Amino acid sequence: MLYKELAELYKRLDSTSKRLEKTYYISELIKKTPKKDLEKVVLLAQGKIFPDWTDKKIGVASKLVVKAISKATGASVRDIEEAWRKHGDLGDVARNLLEKRKQASLMPKELELDWVFMSLRKLAEHEGKGSVESKVTLISELLINAGPDEARYITRTVLDKLRVGIGSGSMRDAIIWAFFSEELGIRYNSGNNDIELSEADRAKYNQMSEKVQYAYDLINDFGELALRLKERGLKGLDEVSLEVGKPINAMLFQKAKDIGDAFSIVGKPAAFEYKYDGFRMQIHIVQSKVQIFTRRLEDVTEQFPEVVDALKKSIRAKSCILDAEAVGYSPATKKYVPFQKISQRIKRKYNIDEMAKKFPVEINIFDIIYYDGKSTINEPFHERRKFLEKIVKEKPFSLVLAKQLITSDEKEAQDFYNESLKMGEEGAMAKNLEGIYKPGSRVGYGVKIKSIMDPLDLVIVAAEYGEGKRSGWLTSFYLACSDNGKLVEIGKVSTGLKELEEQGTTFKEMTGLLKPLVRKSSGKFVELKPEIVIEVGYEEIQKSVNYSSGYALRFPRFIRLRTDEKTVDDINTAEDVEQLYEQQRARG
Ligand code: AMP
Repeated sequence: MLYKELAELYKRLDSTSKRLEKTYYISELIKKTPKKDLEKVVLLAQGKIFPDWTDKKIGVASKLVVKAISKATGASVRDIEEAWRKHGDLGDVARNLLEKRKQASLMPKELELDWVFMSLRKLAEHEGKGSVESKVTLISELLINAGPDEARYITRTVLDKLRVGIGSGSMRDAIIWAFFSEELGIRYNSGNNDIELSEADRAKYNQMSEKVQYAYDLINDFGELALRLKERGLKGLDEVSLEVGKPINAMLFQKAKDIGDAFSIVGKPAAFEYKYDGFRMQIHIVQSKVQIFTRRLEDVTEQFPEVVDALKKSIRAKSCILDAEAVGYSPATKKYVPFQKISQRIKRKYNIDEMAKKFPVEINIFDIIYYDGKSTINEPFHERRKFLEKIVKEKPFSLVLAKQLITSDEKEAQDFYNESLKMGEEGAMAKNLEGIYKPGSRVGYGVKIKSIMDPLDLVIVAAEYGEGKRSGWLTSFYLACSDNGKLVEIGKVSTGLKELEEQGTTFKEMTGLLKPLVRKSSGKFVELKPEIVIEVGYEEIQKSVNYSSGYALRFPRFIRLRTDEKTVDDINTAEDVEQLYEQQRARG
């Protein structure tokens, strides 16, 4: 198969924002893809070259891609960078340069899909000395032989910026349409952008969709899934199974308004657990090999050597997959600390032992997915908990079971929830005792009850200098959200030095960021160009006449700087605030 086919698909995907239309285009390509290319086409269509369960990425810097484009087209690095600045997309730059070249020279040979795919994989695998040169060569060889459109999409794929907008739902549907549209009589109608399906067939379709989704949640690889369906139809999914070392999509939880609501969703009695404020860890153990994955299925084993040790000592199973929450605590006071404090450990690649001492975590295990050679996902929750009690040797501040209370009594549950908040946790989970482990978000198996309102991203529009020792520093910030393109104020947060330092910033840094933005000043007060976005927590939202948004935050607190991730275009809106206010009222 030729790569041209994919380039055509990408162009079609780019041409529409309609989900079903995109799904249709992908399914048509899958239909005509020969078996040997199927996995590659499915991966590439999503801009990937490895299945979701690996965390391997192509990982090529844009500088290197610029060099490769230069080598392939003869354009200078400076000209390419200049064009890139203008277009904002290196893929388009490569396309335009190749178009010019094409007019002048003979057509190059046609790019085989297989060659592109293998070259991309090689890119991901080259590391170390001389790797830059060999990467440049790999990419430029592809580009030399590519047509203009192909060059555009190869460049984008290499940079991990394909962005054709197909999520996992579309991919699942496209695969089903590709293999079962005749059997189910599915027809995509581009006129009304809908599918035509009889009532009876729709029920069949929904069932099939469940089955395919379920298999995907277990293997996390649409390529393999498509191949199984092509080879053996739905039967091919029957023996899809869990494997230690291959992370599965985690079970997610919907929100309940309060304890009563939680009972009505999961039934009585229910298992209540602390909702720990940390991050999720999926732990895979076989013999003495331990692997730790995040909720996004990234392998973080190396970042948590002390957790690996603790697991090796305290888990009595030949093999298992555990679901847990890692929570940070202060080494001095042994009190739990908010997630933000330990979040830096997830990405950290150096001084790992020092980080482990400074920001220790306690692993709170709350579920088991696999135990001694067998999947446990179809066991009821109370049985799975029993397995956990059998195999986990608890050690406080290292490795423990999630604190649990089984009850039918609302008052007891409420007290438990309050206790969790007092311990500094986020709220409680309520779980159906008979529920199986369902990867993904499903109704009825478990819910979360949170007290703290979702934090807001707000922009700093003005600030005040502190007093006394702090008189040189800007320490209070006036905050605004957006309202149909305008900025409206919603409150003021005064920060303490400690509070800032805990989040990895200082008065000095904040003042340094804000000072160049001063528009006007009077006394201690300065008006600022709205550029710096921070995340702000609070206890409650109140109606207020003091601020132009009409709302105020009660007990606002600085959570963190968001300048790396967010600009003023990304802040929360007055509408968000109103919605949160309404939710809070609904909760009483
Ligand atoms: P949220 O991130 O607000 O959607 O809440 C769900 C998350 O809470 C899960 O993904 C876990 O990371 C976390 N969590 C904390 N404690 C528990 C628990 N006892 N059971 C399940 N999930 C928990």
